[in-house]
Amino acid sequence: MKFYLEWYGCTANKNDAEIAVSLLEKAGFTRIFDENNADFFVIFTCIVKGPTEEKIRYRIKKLSEYDKPVIVVGCMPKTYPERVRQLYDKISLVGPFDIDKIVDAVKNAINGKYVDFISSERMNKINVPHVRFNPVVEIVQISSGCLLDCTYCATKLSRGNLVSYSIEDIVKRVRNSLIDGVREIWITSQDNSVYGFDFGKDLADLINKISVFDERYFIRNGMMNPTFLGRYIDKLIEAYKNDHVFKFLHLCVQSGSDKVLCDMKRGYQAADFIRQVKTFRESIPELTLSTDIIVGYPTETESDFEETVKLIERIKPDIINLSKFWPRPLTEAYKLPQLPRKIIDERARVLHEIINEIKIRRNEKWIGWSGEIIVDEIGKNGTYMGRNSAYKPVVVKSDENLFGKFVEVEVVEAKSNYLIGQLV
Ligand code: SF4
Repeated sequence: MKFYLEWYGCTANKNDAEIAVSLLEKAGFTRIFDENNADFFVIFTCIVKGPTEEKIRYRIKKLSEYDKPVIVVGCMPKTYPERVRQLYDKISLVGPFDIDKIVDAVKNAINGKYVDFISSERMNKINVPHVRFNPVVEIVQISSGCLLDCTYCATKLSRGNLVSYSIEDIVKRVRNSLIDGVREIWITSQDNSVYGFDFGKDLADLINKISVFDERYFIRNGMMNPTFLGRYIDKLIEAYKNDHVFKFLHLCVQSGSDKVLCDMKRGYQAADFIRQVKTFRESIPELTLSTDIIVGYPTETESDFEETVKLIERIKPDIINLSKFWPRPLTEAYKLPQLPRKIIDERARVLHEIINEIKIRRNEKWIGWSGEIIVDEIGKNGTYMGRNSAYKPVVVKSDENLFGKFVEVEVVEAKSNYLIGQLV
């Protein structure tokens, strides 16, 4: 039997899908990429934003037109089961901690029994078989859950409190994937900055243990929050200096207003974020900084918004993931009086323009740079995308297949989201 699978959302969810594909293929099912010929469907969901949830609900409705089983997996069935069940009667729900039950769910569904697997019992996802959607990249979930209760966040409702995997298990996983020939190790979770706090270790301890191997590879550190980073920032910067670590920092600030950060229960102030970025950049000047911003939080006033604009103009991050606030059911912020969409849209428009200007200026600094990139994506028309040691995306053209190779390039042009390089 053949299945068609779609996944949405974060890197951790992508790895959950990689685990599911491995389990289904081992059970004798075949993955195909054409939904018209599938015998059943698997959709990995995300509930972070309203529009993403709407898009996934629309897809489930579309797939239901084939009148075949749909297995809905991840955060949506765990947090909003009823909102999913009402979409179609041939649906089975599988929670983010129950990926190891997906074969049971499918076998029941193809026999007309729609059984749900939604538990809070954490599944061990560290040393389990999985496919790699990108053979150059190994995604390693280092923990699940977090230590905060941000008022706008639905992810907390599905992924829960922090549970970290042991350093030994992660080292074994990294070791095995390097033997397989991967070139990039993406360590990910809901908040990498609190890794190991549940057993007296931290992210620097982990990175120091997985950046010791002889192979040629890079480690990409995933999303972090400023809340607890100050406790061990110097130690983390030392770990980042290892040549195996991409000089890439994804530190989510969300707002420039201390009042809004307090209302969001983020547990830090803008000054903490500013100090942490400054400390990193003083030690690693070529650092690529990525951050997340939410505009239109219910209590955000015009002057709060101005604080966010000022912060962005002051820090000039390389990447800014801008989100409009969307009230998520069952969260604290959902109960607050909401700002008019018109105001939220306008603030997003204003910030979007500023962000585009900053991104191109940041990238122009790389024109003339020459060095090595690891090619991890195949583009169109003979182009390839690679990453340099600062995780900057560089596009090159070649008749030779460069995928998975380290190549020397020189940057000749800058775009807002990537650089253009020439092979040297
Ligand atoms: S840190 Fe906050 S935003 Fe991130 S998963 Fe936890 S509660 Fe959600």
